[in-house]
Amino acid sequence: MHAELAGETLSIICVNPCPSVAFPKAEFRRALTTWYRKHGRDLPWRRTRDPYAILVSEFMLQQTQVATVIPYYHEWLRQFPDFAALNRASENDILRAWQGLGYYARARNLHATARAVVDRFRGRFPRSIEQMQRLPGIGKYTAHAIASFAFDQAVPIIEANTARVLVRILNFRRPIDRRGGREKLWEHAATLVPERSARIYNSALTDLGALVCRPRRPRCGICPVKKLCRAKNPETLPTKKERPPMERLTENHALIIRADRILLEKADRRWRCMWILPRLQRTPLNRRPIYRSIFPFTNHRVTLNVYTQCTQKIDDHSQRWIRVDSLDSIPIPSPHRKALRHLLNEAIAARSRRQRSSGS
Ligand code: SF4
Repeated sequence: MHAELAGETLSIICVNPCPSVAFPKAEFRRALTTWYRKHGRDLPWRRTRDPYAILVSEFMLQQTQVATVIPYYHEWLRQFPDFAALNRASENDILRAWQGLGYYARARNLHATARAVVDRFRGRFPRSIEQMQRLPGIGKYTAHAIASFAFDQAVPIIEANTARVLVRILNFRRPIDRRGGREKLWEHAATLVPERSARIYNSALTDLGALVCRPRRPRCGICPVKKLCRAKNPETLPTKKERPPMERLTENHALIIRADRILLEKADRRWRCMWILPRLQRTPLNRRPIYRSIFPFTNHRVTLNVYTQCTQKIDDHSQRWIRVDSLDSIPIPSPHRKALRHLLNEAIAARSRRQRSSGS
C-alpha cells in the first residue's frame, strides 16, 4: 500500500486490487472531533497535561481495562504524586501499589523511568520523542501518547482502538501485527493528524474505537464517519496473523502454617521480588489440592494447585515465615493473594468449629 499526500486528501494505492482513493482528511477530522465533544469519555487522565500522570495512565492501560485502571490511577497518584516521589519509593511499595493490575514489569519500568527522569532530566520529563523512547518501558506508542496528550505535539498514536478505526476507514488489509503492515499504518496515521489539537483528535479516535467501531459488531449505524468509511466487511479488519495456541501450565504450591505465621517464598521471573506460596517441585501423589484456581498469563492458561504440607525443608535464601496479620503490607500477586485469603478464612472457620465442639 502506498500513501501520497496531496493537500487535504490522502491517496491510497493498495497492493491487493483496490483502486486509488482520495480520503477527505479535513472532513474526517471535523466529523470525528464534533462527535467527540458530545460523546467522548470523561477520563481522569484527560483532565491533566502533567506528563507524569499521563505516563502513569499509559503504563496502567497497557493490558488493563479503563474501568479497572481508574481507582489504581487515583491511588497511585495519591501515594506517588510525581517523579521525585516515585523515585524515592521502594520496590516493595511500588509492587504493593500495583497489586491486582498484573504484568508487574510495567510497575518496575515506571519506577526505573522515574529514576532516569530524576537523574538525567532533573525531574522534568523530556519533550523529545527520541529521548522518551530511551527511557525504560517506553516504546513508540507510549512516547507518541505523552507527546500528544501532555505536549499537544502533532503525532499519531497507534494502539488497539485507533488501529481498528484507521484500518477500517482506509480499508487497510495488510496484517498490522507484522512489521511492514504496522509501519505502513503509522505512516497513514501520521498524514491524518491535524497540526493543532492533536490531543483532542487522538482522544476522539481512541473513543470512536472503544465506543463505536468495536472489534465485534461495530455500531456503523451511529458512526459519525460512516459516509467516509471504506470498510466493506469491518469485522474482518484488522487483519492479523494467526495467534499461537493457548498453552496449559500447572503450578503446585504448599500451604505451610505455624501458629500465626505462614511460609512464603520470593518469586523470580514472572513475579520477581513478590511473595508467593512455596513451590512444590513435584505433584504430591494420591492427594487432592485444598485449593485450585485457573488464571490467564500471556498465552498460557495456568492452573494453580495448593496442597497442605506439614514438613518442608526451608530455603533460608528465598523463604521467610511471615506473620499472617502483616500479609497486607507485602507485595503478593493476585492469584496467590486470592488463594491465601480463601485458605486463611477456611483455617479460621475450622479453628472456631473445633473450639465450639470442644466447648460443648
Ligand atoms: S462505519 Fe463502522 S467500520 Fe467504519 S469506522 Fe464507523 S463503526 Fe468503524
